[in-house]
Amino acid sequence: MEEKMRAVQIHAPGEFSVDWVPVPHPGRGEVLVEVKAVAICGSDPGIFNGKVLQNGWPPHFPFIAGHEFAAQVVALGEGVTNLKPGDRVAGEAHCGCGTCEMCKKGYYNLCLNYGNQAAGHHHYGHSSPGCYAQYQVYDQKALTLLPDNVTYDEGTLVDTAGTAYNALRLTGVEPGGFTAIIGPGPMGIMAMCLAKAMGSATIVIGRRQRLAMAARLGADYTIDYEKVDDPVEEVRRITGGGAHQVIEAAGNATAYFESVQMARKGGHVALISIPPKDGQEAALKSLIMNQITLHGVRANPNCSKIVLDLMAQGSLNVKDQITHRFPMEQIHEAFDTFIGRKDGALKVIVHPNGDC
Ligand SMILES: [Zn+2]
Ligand SMILES: [Zn+2]
Repeated sequence: MEEKMRAVQIHAPGEFSVDWVPVPHPGRGEVLVEVKAVAICGSDPGIFNGKVLQNGWPPHFPFIAGHEFAAQVVALGEGVTNLKPGDRVAGEAHCGCGTCEMCKKGYYNLCLNYGNQAAGHHHYGHSSPGCYAQYQVYDQKALTLLPDNVTYDEGTLVDTAGTAYNALRLTGVEPGGFTAIIGPGPMGIMAMCLAKAMGSATIVIGRRQRLAMAARLGADYTIDYEKVDDPVEEVRRITGGGAHQVIEAAGNATAYFESVQMARKGGHVALISIPPKDGQEAALKSLIMNQITLHGVRANPNCSKIVLDLMAQGSLNVKDQITHRFPMEQIHEAFDTFIGRKDGALKVIVHPNGDC
């Protein structure tokens, strides 16, 4: 086993480089993996540029970020029973302590020991080191086996797919209804693909090239909010009174309020993006008068196996959501492409160990 590896280290807000660092050793219940592919998450730029420092992300400098990955197991720590060297796996960002009240209920995304590594909690790439590296150690609980016909690149999309699936599961998608999705970014497009796989008709609200991409990847209806007077009215017209589920994935206050108003009576709204502001009575009035259920969505507990099965069965196509690939040495170019949405960039994949 090599002693040193290449990794992207954040040295200060906005300052990062590919450096030589020691290969970590797996502790009890942990495995060492060779990282094959990493997808850039919408939350990564904030971690790299210091905008989410108040959340404790990163907790120190230098820091290795990244949490959407697929990898191969190369070594086991003590007490690992579920995995062996050679296994192909996909990762999750959240690893709960396993013993608190929330973990015991299966909500390890809401672990009461958040940030307490001694208690066994990890939020990989946020409060614990992540995957922009050739190797990393992970708790076995944070890894799910990849089906044989799901590639490493596809496996990196388990995190996004899991979070979109968590939102759809919370809102109770059923065949035959309507799911409206605001914001055709990587999360919104993934929610659209999954809602379709679950038998719901889909309406995507957005604009420009990403809205065109949603249409290309199978949205039943698209609404360009720059071209219609009122996107809320459009949704109500298409659905005959409002969507059964509304998924907000745009990350702005307008989307937050409109999502409530797009829901039908008794409907469900899931907010994935964290809204910058709160308040405004119109949305709250709709919520009360129409008895709408609102769900906050945090990450993707107990979702990896389901979305991987959907990929393996061909019901969830993530290949077409991957628009760009870069070796890790070109990390700056990869981030510029992702942040600038260059050449229609949606999901951008980084390969820490060369091509795979
Ligand atoms: Zn992510
Ligand atoms: Zn816990």
